Amino acid sequence: MTNVLVLWDIDGTLLAAGQDNAPHSRAIEEVVSGTEVEEFATDGMTDAQGATLHLDRAGLDEDLLPAVLERLDIHSHVYLTSGPLTALPGVNEALNFVASLGATNALLTGNTPARAINKLRGAGIDTELIAWEDSFFGGNAKSREVVTHRARDRFPERRIVVIGDTPLDGQAANEAGLDFLGVTTGLYGAEDLTGAGAFLVIEDLVSGLDELGEALS
Ligand SMILES: [Mg+2]
Repeated sequence: MTNVLVLWDIDGTLLAAGQDNAPHSRAIEEVVSGTEVEEFATDGMTDAQGATLHLDRAGLDEDLLPAVLERLDIHSHVYLTSGPLTALPGVNEALNFVASLGATNALLTGNTPARAINKLRGAGIDTELIAWEDSFFGGNAKSREVVTHRARDRFPERRIVVIGDTPLDGQAANEAGLDFLGVTTGLYGAEDLTGAGAFLVIEDLVSGLDELGEALS
């Protein structure tokens, strides 16, 4: 049995990516009425990082960030009702499998806790399989590195494996001395993730389950 802490990314790793329709522009437009903000991809960024970049590109003041983050949180309730998100194939099975190895399933995400919980519930992922108290949330963090360092500082001796779909997941993991396992269910391919320091890249959580198990043993 293993005492590994597995820290899962959410978008593109547990959930199909890109289903969240223009959350930043909607949030900013509610804070500053009359503005129109163009949405762009923020894969791998924290909520604060993505929102700040949207404010910058729209020529708006970064001081608006707390209000924008609050609107993002408020809107995450829609994941539960009108537009349920889709879990990627094999997610609940993979979480059960990892737990059966004696490892702990937790999250390392750029989302706030509210957004993370609502996304997982909306996608039908069994939230009982997640150790929320051992999870790390970077909704307010400037970058993902801040969050991976928090994980390292809290569990200095423990083997920690970050599972994610973007080079930013890999860079942040390695920067803090955490292992990075890449999965190509987001926007990036195996070369991108290996280049970002992945010790293993799997195609998805169904075909890659055995390799994932071996990597955690
Ligand atoms: Mg992701």
